[in-house]
Amino acid sequence: MAYIEPAPIKDKENPFESMMSRFQIAAEHLGLEEEVYNVLKSPVKQVIVSLPVTMDNGSIRVFEGYRVIHSNILGPSKGGIRYDMDVHLDEVKALAAWMTWKCAVVDIPYGGAKGGIKCNPREMSEGEIERLTRAYTQSMYEIFGPDRDIPAPDMGTGPREMAWLMDQYSRSQGMTVNAVVTGKPLVLGGSLGRTEATGRGVMIATLAAMEKLKLNPFKATCAVQGFGNVGSWASQLLDERGVTIVAISDLSGAYYNKEGIAIKEAIEYRNNNKGTLEGFGGAEKINPDEILLLDVDVIVPAAVEDVITIHNADKIKARLIVEGANGPTSAKADHILNEKGIMAVPDILANAGGVTVSYFEWVQNRLGYKWTAERVNRRTDRIMKDSFNHVYATAQQYNVSLRIAAYIVAIDKVAKTYKFRGGF
Ligand code: NAD
Repeated sequence: MAYIEPAPIKDKENPFESMMSRFQIAAEHLGLEEEVYNVLKSPVKQVIVSLPVTMDNGSIRVFEGYRVIHSNILGPSKGGIRYDMDVHLDEVKALAAWMTWKCAVVDIPYGGAKGGIKCNPREMSEGEIERLTRAYTQSMYEIFGPDRDIPAPDMGTGPREMAWLMDQYSRSQGMTVNAVVTGKPLVLGGSLGRTEATGRGVMIATLAAMEKLKLNPFKATCAVQGFGNVGSWASQLLDERGVTIVAISDLSGAYYNKEGIAIKEAIEYRNNNKGTLEGFGGAEKINPDEILLLDVDVIVPAAVEDVITIHNADKIKARLIVEGANGPTSAKADHILNEKGIMAVPDILANAGGVTVSYFEWVQNRLGYKWTAERVNRRTDRIMKDSFNHVYATAQQYNVSLRIAAYIVAIDKVAKTYKFRGGF
């Protein structure tokens, strides 16, 4: 089968091009028809809006907002909203596709979407951000909807923006519709367990992979890059299950203690230190580039994209990589990891605990009922474990890496659903 437009891979790899190249490999394994391939790679809808907003000084500034629905084959589309100066249509398109595969791999009934506004929220007042969020929501009131397209937070947005979005959308409908958005504050219908959900999923995926590799958690060592929401929760939950976290890092540097870092102390230190590990005393400072190359059993990149590349992949000593971050490994590096026999649990599986609990938030909103944290966690654990096992079995069946297997699982599910539903 001849696919058109193979994703280009340049020297400095773009994580989204990396994603498309894996999509293509998985499609080839599945023997996906060219027509279906073309349907799945093209977004369903791309919306660009101009948003005039009155600034605090009385001037009017026009912002550009985007929403891309990549797929709504499995159900209403789901994906975050990013506020950043670098937001552009191509990036939003790629991130929307990423969401389609992530939801499909954990078998939740959502398509994929992503949105964004080109703005710098750090230079805007709270009032300006609120007016911008309301203008964006108002202009998207025919796109969003609990049965159509359900936004969530992403870079530069959080529960505060989701509360404004929920309120503005509800006003446009003349009733309260809290299921239109997830990642809301708890009092507005947010879910218990959402804060730790992604780190929790990383922990479940790590333990499941360690079992396959016959690594005993009580004897295993781990290094975690990034100590924000995902990295610190993953560290704490792995630590509670016996894994020794010997290194952690954030923008202030990397911290190493071969006896194991006291994770709860590190979290408390960070919380009382303006969110940074700068000056943390429970470890020695090491070169941040070394954290992923340490002689440990497991590494968890949980900070930014493109940190495992052709320039360092051959120096990795760990047997297992669990991707808390989105896109930490470039496609060219995949090959090196495979050659070295390193198992990599890919982002679309490893960090899917977050979107899973977002789905639970939506389910609870629609039921008008609140689950206990225990119920949320139990169901998240089950979905993560089942999804890992499914991807692992697929990897064995096709004799491919877990990454390609995750794409095979996701693409197969969306393609089959598409064929049953049919088109014009
Ligand atoms: P966050 O902002 O809470 O934390 C990011 C952490 O990474 C911070 O500690 C920061 O100091 C550190 N960091 C940034 N650049 C770094 C670098 N070059 N080296 C080392 N540390 C660095 O973000 P988060 O929510 O924890 O997200 C982390 C990653 O996980 C992102 O790729 C995000 O897309 C992905 N992710 C997050 C969620 C979620 O629910 N939060 C869900 C899925 C995927």
